[in-house]
Amino acid sequence: MRKLLFRNLFRPPLTERPPDRDEEAVAELAACVDRAARRRLGRSLAIREVDAGSCNGCELEIHALNNAFYDLERYGIRFVASPRHADVLLVTGPVTKNMREGLERTYNATPDPKWVVAVGDCAVDGGLFAESYAVVGGVSAVVPVDLHIRGCPPEPRRLLAGLLALLESAG
Ligand code: SF4
Repeated sequence: MRKLLFRNLFRPPLTERPPDRDEEAVAELAACVDRAARRRLGRSLAIREVDAGSCNGCELEIHALNNAFYDLERYGIRFVASPRHADVLLVTGPVTKNMREGLERTYNATPDPKWVVAVGDCAVDGGLFAESYAVVGGVSAVVPVDLHIRGCPPEPRRLLAGLLALLESAG
């Protein structure tokens, strides 16, 4: 018992090291998204997140955009509570049968011009859950999709790069 106690006292932690900080690159990317949004919309970008049936892995990465490290609000990019205030619908997960109507109603409630971004491999074609009896398919099986951001889950920097590509391709 004592041996075990001593071993645990001196053993280094088993957790993985966090990835190296690349704050400059994130800041530059976020500022580019904000500039593109202001050019395109005349104001900053409002995003409504819709979980259409994901495992929540994608949500963890999307939430990270608002944490103290990424802190997107400082660049004017906001997550909003209602689709009526949104420019972009960020949709995750395979679309489950239970969420199909919710996604359609959210899409219809979002004013034009609007963009739909399907986030994660499941949102592309159902991913891991494609064969499930409870799943309709990818997001494009229910609403038109403007951009797919692949990954399982995609990391925050990739989400930002996707949003920037969307705004730039929109003119
Ligand atoms: S893409 Fe991966 S992390 Fe995202 S909902 Fe599917 S399984 Fe989960």
